[in-house]
Amino acid sequence: MTIPYDLVVRSRRTVTPEGERAVAVAVRGERIAALAGYTAPLTATEDIDLRDLALLPGLVDTHVHVNEPGRTHWEGFDSATRAAAAGGVTTIVDMPLNSLPPTVNVAALDAKQRAALGQCHVDVGFWGGAVPGNVKDLAPLHERGVYGFKCFLSPSGVEEFPPLGVSELREALEEIAGFGGVMVVHAEDPVLLGEPGGPTYREFLESRPGASERSAVEQVVRLARETGARVHILHVSSADCLDVLEAARAEGVAVTAETCPHYLTLTAEQVPEGATAYKCCPPIRSEANRDLLWEGLARGVLSCVVSDHSPSTADLKVPDFAAAWGGIASLQLGLPAIWTEAARRGHGLGDVVRWMSANPAALAKISGKGGMKVGNDADLVAFDPDADHLVDAALLHHKNPVTPYHGRTLKGAVLTTWLRGRPVDGAPHGRFLLGAQ
Ligand SMILES: [Zn+2]
Repeated sequence: MTIPYDLVVRSRRTVTPEGERAVAVAVRGERIAALAGYTAPLTATEDIDLRDLALLPGLVDTHVHVNEPGRTHWEGFDSATRAAAAGGVTTIVDMPLNSLPPTVNVAALDAKQRAALGQCHVDVGFWGGAVPGNVKDLAPLHERGVYGFKCFLSPSGVEEFPPLGVSELREALEEIAGFGGVMVVHAEDPVLLGEPGGPTYREFLESRPGASERSAVEQVVRLARETGARVHILHVSSADCLDVLEAARAEGVAVTAETCPHYLTLTAEQVPEGATAYKCCPPIRSEANRDLLWEGLARGVLSCVVSDHSPSTADLKVPDFAAAWGGIASLQLGLPAIWTEAARRGHGLGDVVRWMSANPAALAKISGKGGMKVGNDADLVAFDPDADHLVDAALLHHKNPVTPYHGRTLKGAVLTTWLRGRPVDGAPHGRFLLGAQ
């Protein structure tokens, strides 16, 4: 007698690695056990037919600042992971800074995992941090399962997470290359950054030119070439970086790069004066630049689209672009934001899943995630690609109701999210994910 499946979800628009297919996804326990034809006669405890609604693999967001412990009033594991699940994201990898302590040694990782325990509605992995003086902490953090290390070359915005100088970056890359890890870099060259001349968006934007990103990417590529370390450029905002990245990859340097929904969907021209919900570093640039980023994504120079969800309390978003906290909250909205713009530009759901699930999973080498494949975790998302919805920041699960998407109409709605075969709808059943040690 055949053993029945626990769950079957059928859709005429199941997004598989081969594209959209009419497929039934059969789940046993926590894993995808079989992919069969849409109408295949499968026996299951629960059998759900989504018809023409889409079925996606859960998204993997490798750039989330949860901020707990220490700045839990900005965002915490409970609220962040609820927001993730509601946005179709079933795996997040937490950034090492903005929490206190920052995740720059094993004791700090322990403190973060203690704080997160029992609160995670999706699966959670962790990045470590590379700061001046902690090179000896990198291997122990790697052994404890962080997916890699984040560093800055310019001030991070919080004093407890200082940037690396060039010689410190080289030393950290040599160390990381020794155990086969990855360094993820906030790439803005401090030499080319200025202080904003005043409170307007134009002055803020002029203080952080695209040349600063390009110069930093050139430095990181040079050091990656020299040390053999694998590197990844975080949140590329300036299209000035694209030819540097393309040339480095052609030459065989192990460099990948990501961008974020706000750089792909918002433009400097649209930022209302004083609307510092739009402030982030590097900044949202011109409409022409945005078009070039989409071309970079289409060519694969940019491989990942991740949120860089970096909220704060509303009081830090003062209406002065020089003084406000720099960070955009969008964890729950990344999928509809990107789908709205991607569809308009002729991309399909398969592209979106590649940018927001498969490629981020590959960047961090997260096993069992990132695609509709037999053996992978049954992280599934029922998605209505044609639904329109008006964003109301107050109705999001984000802890603070501040987001530049407030009042926008986005296309696409997440209907149900399953984490390892179970709907995310009650008690948290997320786990900590560990990288290969
Ligand atoms: Zn970030």
